[in-house]
Amino acid sequence: MNLSELQDVAYKGRMPRFVGKQLAEWIYAKGAVSFDEMVNISKKNKQWLAENYEIGREAPVKATRSSDGTVKYLFSVGAGRVIESVYIPDRDRATLCVSSQVGCKMNCYFCATGKLGFKANLSAAEIINQVLSIPPRPEKGFEPMTPLTNIVFMGMGEPLDNFPAVERAIEILTAPWGLAWSPKRITVSTVGKLPQLKELLDRTQVHVAISVHTADTAQRESMMPAQKAFPISSVMKCLSGYDFSHQRRLSLEYIMWRGVNDDIAHAEMLVKLIGKIDCRVNLIRFHAIPGVDLQPASEERMIMFRNYLNQHGITATIRASRGEDIEAACGMLAAKN
Ligand code: SF4
Repeated sequence: MNLSELQDVAYKGRMPRFVGKQLAEWIYAKGAVSFDEMVNISKKNKQWLAENYEIGREAPVKATRSSDGTVKYLFSVGAGRVIESVYIPDRDRATLCVSSQVGCKMNCYFCATGKLGFKANLSAAEIINQVLSIPPRPEKGFEPMTPLTNIVFMGMGEPLDNFPAVERAIEILTAPWGLAWSPKRITVSTVGKLPQLKELLDRTQVHVAISVHTADTAQRESMMPAQKAFPISSVMKCLSGYDFSHQRRLSLEYIMWRGVNDDIAHAEMLVKLIGKIDCRVNLIRFHAIPGVDLQPASEERMIMFRNYLNQHGITATIRASRGEDIEAACGMLAAKN
């Protein structure tokens, strides 16, 4: 719930309006998991709240640790459904990769989540719960965990296919009465679903990452069915109307497959597609998944590709791969459990 909805709850319970603000503080800033903890709310009001509402916090049901410190969390979201979130520490930073749907409709050929098909949209509460319930208290035998500094909507699902819940989650994450995060710490990744991409750009300030993967349109359509409905050229045209040179960052994601999209011809096509749009390119190592006959590009090819982009004035980096040993890396989330 946002602040005005919490104020409505207070109103319904015949409490002063400011109780709505207190509820927001307890739930979001202080991370309360029960009404009992809310010491500045009267006993009678707490009782009414507990009878009529629930905080909705759910701890992860399972945590799997990678040798590199990455942790994959499994959350139950009811009806026997589960989702995964990935905690990625990196020196003094820690990023949480959150899921927005159970499964995904986009059916990208190279993605384990896509193979699950679509099961359900997550509610804003289920998205926020991933953030609030991670990291749990430091476990025995492990180093204390770095508090979250960044959130990326890059887990299971296409965030813009569940835009109302994602937008609401962003509101709660960034509002002063919510978690009060800067939108600069949040990135939403999408295949480029229109017109929701435009809505995201107009109505929020978060960073945007577009899954491009190849600038060859026929090839993109064969690997990403979304290309048919949302051609990458239309996506880039939409992006060209926004300023990504200051506060807001645009990244293009490019998974590299051996002999598929890792040659100079593809680098040239990508340079052409980008044109004058301010962005950076993240080159991503592919992680083999069962039943998909794609192989990762070689290190040399990735370096060559990166150098070509850099020489053409485009900032490109090879993204360090994390959590591969626990199937938590890009495209590997499938909630086998
Ligand atoms: S890559 Fe993203 S959009 Fe494509 S199927 Fe996987 S989760 Fe869905």
